[in-house]
Amino acid sequence: MKILVVEDEKKIASFVRKGLEAQGFVVDVCHHGDDGYALATTRPYDALVLDIMLPGRDGLSILRSLREHKVPLPVVLLTARSELNERVEGLNLGADDYLTKPFFIEELTARLHAVTRRVTGAGRSILAVADLTMNLLTREVRRGGTNIELTPREFTLLEHLLRSPGRVLTRVQICEQVWSYDFDPGTNLVEVYIQRLRKKVDGDAPVKLIETIRGVGYRVKAHP
Ligand code: CA
Repeated sequence: MKILVVEDEKKIASFVRKGLEAQGFVVDVCHHGDDGYALATTRPYDALVLDIMLPGRDGLSILRSLREHKVPLPVVLLTARSELNERVEGLNLGADDYLTKPFFIEELTARLHAVTRRVTGAGRSILAVADLTMNLLTREVRRGGTNIELTPREFTLLEHLLRSPGRVLTRVQICEQVWSYDFDPGTNLVEVYIQRLRKKVDGDAPVKLIETIRGVGYRVKAHP
């Protein structure tokens, strides 16, 4: 899952980034409200973690614009204890949830899982093709009953491929969805990760699931 965090307090922003990355999320952070709104409306995110008091556009103004433009992005507000009115207004404007600072990273993780589940539907917690299954809640990956250990980044990559079997993802799409926006598209990181994933997922299996479409990108076969 890819999360945008808009928070101007650098310490909190870096605490949130580290905590979420350790849990396998892909995280973009920005410290200015204008940049935050621009990213939220132009990049693919699964959820937005939004501070209220920000330089440039404040959090509530960002939220209002997103909802006015019918952007369905789930939003978790970060609020100070004193910001009761803002919290209520935020919920009325269409925030999905809020957290009061200070908070534990586990609370934020739980809320992010809850709000994104509401959007994607609870039925999508298990992705599967042929004998490959991926449990997004327990983060277990199995091929034919054998456990596969994946790093958080490999997990996210496989998740994106498995969300739409048969559909080819281009390198650029994979970069955008699996790495942060400041990622350099000139590197061969995608190829390297696909190779690692192949080794772990397809390995010696007679049926190969991960397919390279030369010059275009990669996909997981829908009907292997
Ligand atoms: Ca702030």
